[in-house]
Amino acid sequence: MAVSESVRVRIAPSPTGFAHLGTASTALYNVLFARQKKGTFVLRIDDTDLERNRPEFEDLIYESLRWLALEWDEGPDKRGPYEPYRQSERLDIYKQEAARLINDGKAYRCYCTPEELEAERKQAQLEKRPYKYSRRCLTNPPEGRMVFAVRFNVPGGEVVFTDMVRGEMKFDADLIGDFIIVKSDGYPTYQFASPVDDSLMKMTHVIRGEEHLSNTPYQLMLIDALGYERPVAYAHMPLILAPDGAKLSKRKHPESNLMLFKDQGYLPEALINYLALLGWNPGTAQEIFTHDELLQTFSFERVQHAGARFDWEKLNWINGEYIRKLADEELARRLQPFVPNLDPATIERAIPPLKTRMHKLAQAVDYLDYLWTDPAPPALDAATAERVRAAINVLKDVPWEPEAIEAVLEGAVEESGVGKGKFYTPLRDIVTGKKVSLPIHYTLALLPKEVAMHRLQRATNPPD
Ligand code: GLU
Repeated sequence: MAVSESVRVRIAPSPTGFAHLGTASTALYNVLFARQKKGTFVLRIDDTDLERNRPEFEDLIYESLRWLALEWDEGPDKRGPYEPYRQSERLDIYKQEAARLINDGKAYRCYCTPEELEAERKQAQLEKRPYKYSRRCLTNPPEGRMVFAVRFNVPGGEVVFTDMVRGEMKFDADLIGDFIIVKSDGYPTYQFASPVDDSLMKMTHVIRGEEHLSNTPYQLMLIDALGYERPVAYAHMPLILAPDGAKLSKRKHPESNLMLFKDQGYLPEALINYLALLGWNPGTAQEIFTHDELLQTFSFERVQHAGARFDWEKLNWINGEYIRKLADEELARRLQPFVPNLDPATIERAIPPLKTRMHKLAQAVDYLDYLWTDPAPPALDAATAERVRAAINVLKDVPWEPEAIEAVLEGAVEESGVGKGKFYTPLRDIVTGKKVSLPIHYTLALLPKEVAMHRLQRATNPPD
């Protein structure tokens, strides 16, 4: 291709469920390539699966891609020179294209019933040969039937194409039977609608998940038969695998749901950084990449072929790094939706101790929920109650600031003759109801003084 401006790529998610992690990953690689080449990134909605499509799932696709700042240049909500961008609004186009193939003798109507096709398949099994449609309707179609599907008359031979990840790919199309391009309900199959749209929308590169690698020869044969120019190249990106190495499944693996990451407080820029490294290797030890650095360094040559296992530990580490890099005010702003009961001033005061401890924003709830709940006082033995009273004593007159609280408590620890752990654990338990909290001086200082003192006093004077 002579002019780099003309690069056009797309993602084509199907709105059949929650937004999938794989969609974000594919979108990211498309966006990186489009921006590197100053090209155009298109969002097409593949919604020809009548039974499973829902408009709210389409909205989730928009919402999650926008959350990740993976903005598209053309799409159903944006319009563009090749609209419409929803396949359900392009049915006339597929009908016309199928009719053209039939006229040219490159496709034909198939009147076989599901039972007849099943019988063919069983026969092939019995004879231990791979199944291919018999072509009965090409050579000797049954008379008097009305219901038909349209099959592509597969030309066979070798299909060769360039994959930017895997190099030259060759498929033996003699192994491919005549496949259905329009179903008996008049809807196109994915295998047909996708290359028709890729051609009409002038896609120059098709970047998608590895699960589509085996579809590419089918789609290239159709592009050839329709007389369109082939895309310059394909790129099939490694599958994302679950932490246990299994294929990521919508039902079994929570990490497949993109919105889970938003709900748990992963920063979109951290998730993008993580996704870039999942399947791509920069060739250096660098692990934190700004968007610009990704644009400069990403290349398909360094994309791995094998499946990429999801690794929570690494994501948590990366997210923690991004959290620590945020300015305090910005972190407070992002935390607000996770702790809606707290006023901005309290959140801001909680930032210094939280910042070094969190790897995701939702953890703030575990650290801070004692501020809006009232934990039941624990039972104390006499010696512990005595130490709590000593703490109350030094806290009574202290200015209610973390540093001042820390100083008097350290004095009380020294006086008590026990270690810090033993002295602070019951205080923590009384004030928060938990074994783990922010450092005790912050824990206390974040509560209004009278509330903190009340909890401590109540625990030392249990009602009989
Ligand atoms: N609708 C298909 C999917 O979501 C699109 C695949 C493609 O990019 O061709 O997997």
